[in-house]
Amino acid sequence: MKVLILGIDALEYNRVIEWDLKHLKLKEFGKTEVPISEGFGEPVTLVVWPSFITGSEPIDMGFDAPIIYRHPLKFILEKIYFPLTLNKQTQSEHDVSILEKTTIKNKIISRTNYILMKAGMGRYPERKDIKKPTFFDNPNYKSIHHNIPVYDAVFTTEDRDSARNGVIRAISDKQFRKKFEKKLSDELKIGSENVFKNLKKPDWELYMQYFYVLDGIQHVYYKNKIKLMDYYLKFNHFVGRVKEKMPKDMMLLIISDHGQENGLHTNYGYYSCNLKLGLKNPKIYDFKKLIENKILKK
Ligand SMILES: [Zn+2]
Repeated sequence: MKVLILGIDALEYNRVIEWDLKHLKLKEFGKTEVPISEGFGEPVTLVVWPSFITGSEPIDMGFDAPIIYRHPLKFILEKIYFPLTLNKQTQSEHDVSILEKTTIKNKIISRTNYILMKAGMGRYPERKDIKKPTFFDNPNYKSIHHNIPVYDAVFTTEDRDSARNGVIRAISDKQFRKKFEKKLSDELKIGSENVFKNLKKPDWELYMQYFYVLDGIQHVYYKNKIKLMDYYLKFNHFVGRVKEKMPKDMMLLIISDHGQENGLHTNYGYYSCNLKLGLKNPKIYDFKKLIENKILKK
């Protein structure tokens, strides 16, 4: 059986339920358990996706932080720097202080990362840092993958810096927001066109397309419910069209690395599948075996 995976960064379970997004609620759906990066206090994109595609916990997969540090430094950072930047999320806080906290925390992390990287003491993880085979590497079937964080070299160091700085800049600089949003909506357009193009191709068994857009939109526009709803509805509509165009005997899996509330990552992900899988609050690294078994009809 062919398997199509739509990896949607930051797709929040509560919004799918609240807005009753029918196409995002396939036959089986729910929350997933995702790894929380120690020190960051939240699930981070560059760790969760490699964990998903390898079916391994971060510690076995190869890295549990979004930066690979050189040795002695890693120790210092874990003992001193990370605990200081840990963002304790208390429910009762007002929007303003959440924004301040997010911004300050992001600024500290971003600035420190930048300095350390410039000094050659740290770098973003790359495919070679993933120590376990991914489901794309299985030699028994053909895979297509687009924009998978870390695995596909979509984020160079400069891209990562501009993506993170893009979020931070767009939060405070209203002039820049239009440009930022344009970049994100272009990503959705190109990504969904890719899906329809590849759906017509016969020569693959596994295909995964990744979308960053919702993460950026929610970080920047979390106070603008209409804007958020607009983007969630776009994804709902997109999946509705995918369901119309895909063959009946194809497995469709929608998956997110974490959700977002008030511009901050929530510590669970979301999954939705057109097949009854019988899972309950699965771990995100439990899917690899299941996917490979579906493809190889075990
Ligand atoms: Zn994020």
